[in-house]
Amino acid sequence: MGPPGVGKGTQSVRLVNFLNVPHLSTGDMLRQACQEGSDLGLLAEQYMAQGKLVPDPIILQLVGKRLDQGDCQEGCLLDGFPRTLGQAQALDELLQRRGTPLTAALELKADSEELVKRLAGRGRDDDRPEVVRERLRQYARQTAPLSDYYARQGRLFEIDGGGPPEEVFGRIKAVISQIKKKAMSV
Ligand code: ADP
Repeated sequence: MGPPGVGKGTQSVRLVNFLNVPHLSTGDMLRQACQEGSDLGLLAEQYMAQGKLVPDPIILQLVGKRLDQGDCQEGCLLDGFPRTLGQAQALDELLQRRGTPLTAALELKADSEELVKRLAGRGRDDDRPEVVRERLRQYARQTAPLSDYYARQGRLFEIDGGGPPEEVFGRIKAVISQIKKKAMSV
């Protein structure tokens, strides 16, 4: 997890290559659905264009279906999901039913000045300043509380997302080996 512009997408691509697991980006899945013009895509587009979160039931349907596919059985990286407390609780229930609990939640952090600067240079449809402001607001209101949720479960790992991508990835790899060591000691 991490606010818009913090580098979740960039770092996720590196991390899935490193861990050799599938990359489940709800943002990418939604953008693909929009492009295909499916009912779900058309509905989601209205929220995304305004910087609002797509309603939980739509997201849960999308992720639930994807997790059932064969390539996810040995694990996967969730990018941009969960983003609300409701999504996090639904995910925990779903993973508990499958007997494959969440290993860890990684939170990337950066100061808001750096975020706005990075987003301005990206140029995606929803990167217009007024939409970015709304996305940052939604993050603070709906997603930031998830840090506490995962911290209470002892699953939260915070990572400084500032500086060049390679440096950030170095910090992520350090956290991954910490998580692996912890898993082996239990
Ligand atoms: P960013 O993290 O930079 O905002 P994403 O590609 O992750 O970019 O998300 C883009 C948009 O897709 C969000 O602003 C939101 O409208 C929608 N979205 C993505 N993931 C979710 C989610 N888990 N729940 C609700 N909406 C989502």
